[in-house]
This record gives sequence, structure tokens and C-alpha cells, in this order.
Amino acid sequence: MTSTKTEGMSIKFGPFEVTKQVFLTTPHSYALVNLKPLIPGHVLVCPLKSHLRLTELSPVEITDLFSTVQLTQRMLAQKYFPVPGDLMSGSFTIAVQDGPDSGQTVPHLHVHVIPRRKGDVGDSPDVIYTKMASEDGNIGGALWDTERRPVPAGSMPRIEDADRSARTHEQMEAEAGEYRTILRELGVQ
Ligand code: AMP
Repeated sequence: MTSTKTEGMSIKFGPFEVTKQVFLTTPHSYALVNLKPLIPGHVLVCPLKSHLRLTELSPVEITDLFSTVQLTQRMLAQKYFPVPGDLMSGSFTIAVQDGPDSGQTVPHLHVHVIPRRKGDVGDSPDVIYTKMASEDGNIGGALWDTERRPVPAGSMPRIEDADRSARTHEQMEAEAGEYRTILRELGVQ
């Protein structure tokens, strides 16, 4: 069942307990708010089972995962798009860093869903990919063994990332609550 409720569940993102950050669950997937969003609305969609790589998912799981991405996009468009809810009035970056050499730092497959607006990361919208690969979402990296831990890629200065501090549980829970409310307005209980 697709639901905004997580009562009685214990949801993990890699090694992290994230139940209170989760705003959407489905039979095989969940969506959570980000500890360090690159820009406002940057969330993650994951399989409930802690698969590491995209190719590990069954057809049922992958269909469920990307259906959850679509629902998450509809929800985010209500809050972040110039014409709320009009999917054509804004854009998204949807990305998977599938393995440490591509920048994956948390050992649990996740899809980045990022609502985009003109000029949000500077002159080129592609800068988001450099930020994603170099971001100190490498908090996850500390938990990988040293041989496999990804080295941040990209040529962006790290200063912005250093400034981008992890948010408090209260901030993340408030954001998750806001998204649950929007989802309920869209008919997801
Ligand atoms: P990647 O570099 O593709 O593995 O992305 C990891 C993502 O997970 C980054 O966007 C991080 O900010 C995010 N992240 C890391 N730890 C947590 C956490 N405990 N809760 C929510 N998001 C997290």
C-alpha cells in the first residue's frame, strides 16, 4: 500500500535509521528528506530492501521504485514549481550514482529527485552533477571501507559543500511533515 504513515516501521538508509525522515512508503520503496540537500526539495527515493546497486532490483521492485519517483515529483511540483502542480512549469534532475566510482557514498541504492529552477546552481544547470559527485554527502563515505570509499569527483570548489551543514532532526521532520500533508492533498493516505 502507498502511504504517508510509518507507524510501527523501522526504516534504514544504509546504516542510518531514518524512519522519521520518511514521508512516503510503498510495498517496495520509500522516500525521505535529505540530511544535506543540494538545493531545496532535494529528496531521495530508495528500495525498502537495502540493495546496493540498480541491477539487483527485481522487475517488480524497479517498477515500484520509479513509480515512487513519479509520485514524489508530483508532490514536489506542488511546492517548488512556478505553477504549483503543473509539471511542465518546472524541471527535475533525477539521478542515480550506481556504485562508488560514480560518486555513490551511501551503500543503499537511492534515486536523487531534485526540483530545478532556472539559475538555481549558477549559469549551467549541469553544475548539479558536479555538486552531487563532490558533495559531502560523503558522510556516508566514512562508513565504507577505505578501499571502496569514493573519492569526491568534480572540479567545483568544496567551499559551498563545507558551508552546507547537516540539518537537525527537527528540521528534517518538519520538512517530511510538510510533504506528507501535500501527499494527503493528492489523495495518498
Ligand atoms: P550519493 O553521494 O549519491 O551516495 O548520495 C548520498 C545522499 O544521501 C546525499 O544526498 C546525502 O546528503 C544523503 N544522506 C546521507 N546520509 C543521510 C541521512 N542520514 N539521511 C538523509 N540523507 C542522507
